[in-house]
Amino acid sequence: MPRFEGANGRQDSQGPLIRLDEIRKTYHLGEVDVPVLNGVSLTIERGELVALMGVSGSGKTTLMNLLGCLDRPSSGHYWLDGEEVSELSGDARAILRNRKIGFVFQNFNLLPRSSALHQVTMPLSYTAEELTESEWRRRAVDLLGRVGLGERLDHEPSQLSGGQQQRVAIARALINNPPLVLADEPTGALDSKTSEEILHLFQELNAEKGITVVIVTHDPGVAAHTKRIIRIKDGLIEDDTLKTTAVAKALMAAEAVI
Ligand code: ADP
Repeated sequence: MPRFEGANGRQDSQGPLIRLDEIRKTYHLGEVDVPVLNGVSLTIERGELVALMGVSGSGKTTLMNLLGCLDRPSSGHYWLDGEEVSELSGDARAILRNRKIGFVFQNFNLLPRSSALHQVTMPLSYTAEELTESEWRRRAVDLLGRVGLGERLDHEPSQLSGGQQQRVAIARALINNPPLVLADEPTGALDSKTSEEILHLFQELNAEKGITVVIVTHDPGVAAHTKRIIRIKDGLIEDDTLKTTAVAKALMAAEAVI
């Protein structure tokens, strides 16, 4: 398979961004085995915008932790951007996360007394990428401008609304140009109007930059903003639906009426 090293060491291969093959995860609580993922096989192509849905306890977080290389499966294989990652060490996974994955969380996970600019440049201090301080700053300023916070570079979280804090977190997730963004209930702490704005931002970034976005949600209104809905139940994929544009629009219109 042809591949080349991109500007930040990214492997730009031709295959899917994510491929899971028969992934299983069992937690061990003392003597008791708790099987949580029971053979998940899944492919996500580059540039997809996907919702991962399921009721509480279905295994969404466990699957997200594996996709995010925060944890390893008990068995099965995971290829991320053409690289088999299921057996990498903790250190190797940390490097991979930094280069390939941006994370967005429900509660933003910002540093309490740091400016928006500092929050966004912070992940760069862990990269192998050699950038001067002014290049870091320029990239962060560009991204904060892109998410609509160009006027708020020096603001700390306490001086920002929830939606603005999530925008800072999204800019932070994008600072290393990752091919993948994983968002765990990214609108769970926001009112409906702000949620809508944040979901539009994800849609725009997905369309503009071709970033693959996976959003974990229990909310059908959030999932309606994506192009594909993967439902997980009892640690297995129950349903996987690729929406046509027409269906997606109808779902969004129905959501607006409700
Ligand atoms: P969801 O995100 O869909 O709510 P989770 O992946 O968090 O589901 O959890 C699925 C199941 O796995 C639950 O029954 C939960 O109790 C169990 N579980 C999750 N993490 C652990 C762990 N670290 N140790 C033991 N059981 C766990």
